[in-house]
This record gives sequence, C-alpha cells and structure tokens, in this order.
Amino acid sequence: MERRGFLKGLLAAPPLAARLYAQRTRGLPPLAIREVKVIPTSAGGRYQWVFLKIVTSEPGLYGLGSASNVNQALSVVTAIEKHLGPFWIGKNPDRIEDLWQSTNVRSYWRNSAIQNNVLSALDAALWDIKGKRAGMPVYELLGGKVRDAVPLYAHADGRDMQQVEDNVRKYMEEGYRHVRAQMGGYGGGGMIPPGQGSRPAAGFTGPAFDEELYVDTIPKLFEHLRVKLGNGVKLLHDVHEHLTPILAVELAKRVEPYRLFFLEDVLPPEQIAWFRNIRQVATTPLAMGELNTNPHEWVPLISERLIDFVRNRLSATGGITAAKKTAALCETFGVRTAWQEGGDNDPVNQLASYHVDLSIASFGIQEENHFPPLVHEMMPGTAQLKGGYLYGSDGPGLGIDLNEATAAKYPLQPLETGL
Ligand code: MG
Repeated sequence: MERRGFLKGLLAAPPLAARLYAQRTRGLPPLAIREVKVIPTSAGGRYQWVFLKIVTSEPGLYGLGSASNVNQALSVVTAIEKHLGPFWIGKNPDRIEDLWQSTNVRSYWRNSAIQNNVLSALDAALWDIKGKRAGMPVYELLGGKVRDAVPLYAHADGRDMQQVEDNVRKYMEEGYRHVRAQMGGYGGGGMIPPGQGSRPAAGFTGPAFDEELYVDTIPKLFEHLRVKLGNGVKLLHDVHEHLTPILAVELAKRVEPYRLFFLEDVLPPEQIAWFRNIRQVATTPLAMGELNTNPHEWVPLISERLIDFVRNRLSATGGITAAKKTAALCETFGVRTAWQEGGDNDPVNQLASYHVDLSIASFGIQEENHFPPLVHEMMPGTAQLKGGYLYGSDGPGLGIDLNEATAAKYPLQPLETGL
C-alpha cells in the first residue's frame, strides 16, 4: 500500500522543471505582455533594422527580437503595429510554442517573408524574456552548450586571383579556418566589363554577366588557391543563384577536385529539384537556403539528403523555435547548419543564431558579420568576434540590450531598391 501511495504521489506531482520554475516565480503575479514596441533604426549607417521590444507586466522585464527585412522594412513595421502586435497584448509570454503557433495561423496565409519576420521577432523576444526570468542565457534553456564558441567563415574577395589569395591569407592569419572566396564581388567571376562584348545598339552598356565565362573562371580561381595555399584552409564559394540549372551541375563537377567546404546557392530556389541531378555526378558539398521561407523548401532537401548545409536565416524562417526543429531534422539526416548572416543582418538576429549554434549537434558553420563601434555602443552585449569565433555576452536571455535614445537618433531611411 505504501509503495502504491508513493507511486501515486509521484504521478500526481508536476515534472521537476515545472516545480523548479514554480518555486522560482512563487509570489510573482502571472506574467502578461503589456506593450509591443517597434523600433526601426539605421544604426548610423544604411542598415534597415527593425527591432521588436515585448514589455511584460513584471517591472523592468522585456525581451528583444529582430524583425529586420532589408527590402521591406516598413511592411514588417506595419504588420506588427497594425495587425499582429495587438493580438499579443495580455497573452502569457511564457507560452512560446503556443504563441508562435497561434500567431502563425492567425494570418491565414503562412510562410511569407513578412509573416516569418514577425514570428521570428516575437519568438526571439519571448526566449529573451524567459532567459532573463530564469537568470540564464538562452542556450542553457535550449539544452546547454555543445561547443564553447561559434566558428565563423569570413568573406574574401578580390579583383584577380592574386588579390583573392592575399585576402584569404589575411583571414587565415586572423585565425579563420573557413574562408569564402569570391572574385569580382557579388556574382563576380563572369562579368564582362562595361562597354565590352556584344551589345545591342543603344542598349545596356554596364557590366554584364556571362555564365559560361563564370563556369570557366571559378574553377581556375580555386585551382590557384589550392596550389598557393594547400588543402589546410577550408574554402567556400557562393554562386548567388546566378546559373541556369545545367551549368550549375557542370560547375559542381568542375570544382570537385578543389575540395570545397561548400558550394552555396548553386541553384535558384525555383529549381531545387535539380539538386538530385547534381548529387548523381559530383561530391562537392552543397549549401542552400538563405532565400527559404517555407518548410516545404528545406524539408525535402534535408530528408532526401540533397544538400550538406542548410542556410536559413533565422529572422526569415521563424526564429529560434523553428531553427531548433530544423536542426533536429538535420541531425537525423546527416545535414549540418550554416545559418545565414549577410551584411544587412542585425546583432539580435546574430545572437539568436548564436544561441541555437551553441546548443545543437548538427551545427556546421556560421557566416561572419561584424558591426561598427557605434552599434556596439547602441546595443551593449553585441557578440564579439575573435580569432574566427563568435562570443556572446553570456548575460541572461539573449544577452543584449538596445539603447532606444541612441537608436532614435538614427531613423531608418527606407532604401528604394532594397539591396
Ligand atoms: Mg549567400
């Protein structure tokens, strides 16, 4: 009887974590979302940053999220202020999954970039609040550290092969083990200079992209880098979705001897079925995903083992909560993560990625992004780069704050043409 009573008592008791949480918050009134603030800023540069601040009923307790969208910043501001923000008022910020799901279905049409920006901002702010309440960094709540810092890859560029080589060496000397090598900037390596080549009369005279030239040039660049630098450094290359599918297959074959760490965005998102063709003929590791917004884009690529690295941007795909689920899927199928962090990204999204990176087994690499001194001053706790690694502040929550008075000094000036 005694044993039965003991077992009965055990089954009736709430789980240990729930009891600890109840102890820690005993005597506090139930938590509720009191205010939803949207903070757009250029941060003293040309940034198109939009931050979300969720203010709770507990004095001084708030969370920050990134709602940045470089191309449609004001659409995200309106979506929060006029549509979804009012829905969150009065809700319990502890219920992250519940609020994520109910916000997602509330808009009826799902998986748009704007919708995901809003969801991701809410999600990061709620994790920030939970971490602050627990007195722990978010990565502790996500399962704890799997690594001590986050390895990054750097961006090397140059007008010619020698310049690219010099810039890769510079990053290697700084401690980077992974370097992305481009030649001639965004989409470079296949550019016909202004005025040269075949042009229609009175037509466009600016730089023009020639994809056959690109497919000839890029393998030569990597042959040069391997001859000069050896196989020690891990080299990456980003195609920026510039090729027609059959030339993407050809490029993946032609760079195979140079053992890239990954070849990124070799296909546009509309042509991802062609990854099956590439897999048949080349062992070049493939990375894809910075344009992803819908799980139907990344789930087949992972579950059919068609890519090696998924490159979703957290703030465009549902935030920390969604990234943890994607990382778990990756772990099952032997795919790794390489969350996107292009130059337009902000320090809050960078830290959201950082906390996920620290706590997942399927981590592969993180893209480098660094900020000027004014941003570090405006946002205390912005992660630090040192020797090719990213280090967060280890403060509770995301470990970052935002000086709203400084942000207000630099109003956002929407770019007419996005990037
Ligand atoms: Mg890219």
